[in-house]
Amino acid sequence: MTGKDMEIIGIPRAVRDACRKHLLQSRTIGFVPTMGALHDGHLSLLRKARRENDIAVASIFGNPMQFGPSEDFEKYPRDIENDIKKLRNEEIDILFLPELSLLYSSGFSTYINVDIISEKLDGGFRPGHFRGVATVVAKLFNIVDPTRAYFGQKDFQQTIIIKRMVKDLDFDLDIVVCPTVREDDGLAMSSRNLYLDKEQRRAARVLYRCLNEASDAIKSGIIKLEEIKDLMIKIISGEALVNRINYAAVYDPMTLDEVDVIQGEVLIAVAVRLGDTCLIDNMLINS
Ligand code: AMP
Repeated sequence: MTGKDMEIIGIPRAVRDACRKHLLQSRTIGFVPTMGALHDGHLSLLRKARRENDIAVASIFGNPMQFGPSEDFEKYPRDIENDIKKLRNEEIDILFLPELSLLYSSGFSTYINVDIISEKLDGGFRPGHFRGVATVVAKLFNIVDPTRAYFGQKDFQQTIIIKRMVKDLDFDLDIVVCPTVREDDGLAMSSRNLYLDKEQRRAARVLYRCLNEASDAIKSGIIKLEEIKDLMIKIISGEALVNRINYAAVYDPMTLDEVDVIQGEVLIAVAVRLGDTCLIDNMLINS
């Protein structure tokens, strides 16, 4: 089967039937959930899913449950026609494009909350965000029943929350984490980069620079968290257009707790606001 025949399906039951048919014939299914406005970061996940499975399934769903009341759900970039072209180009077999009312029927009241790690980092700034993510991803997994699901390291916290949920709730699939795809100047690709004006776009380079300099400092032997944090905050504060630093530090990649003494594998992560736009980035390093 090739993507030229890509089926676009909006009804959850119809997606379930289509996927089940493949599974019954012992075909593997690779699944990439997205919110659309597809860029090369998404495409890297889709390509890997395409390569590693018999059937490649993508979903596009702007999930209102993971946006707070003051967040950008209404203005989140949407470009469905172009997205469909890109998915066909990547030879995706099935695009699941659910309607809101079919995923969340009236009276919907069941939520998945992955305790503790959902409250760390971005969770502290986006109450309820990861509950919304875990709930919709669990629903999508139940509908598609993938063999493997692909997520980007750019959203590192999301990957460990999903892995925890898969383990805790006995989902039968593998989670594959794919490297962050970057623009030429190092900025991590994100649908939200479209919000940035020219000056903000230039200023956004500070995230990657900050991660690299922190990484170099750790590799040169600095092991005290406070020193690295000071360095990171100094670099970001040097960029006048950054109006808030949500966090910038070094974390244990399992618990997302700050590490007092940096050793072994650590996560360097940063989140800032440029105007109204929140940008995040991270780097895993072996110190
Ligand atoms: P989103 O549409 O933002 O929900 O993203 C869908 C998937 O693409 C998530 O697993 C993201 O982590 C992943 N993703 C987004 N940006 C990138 C990137 N620059 N590199 C790799 N994966 C990404």
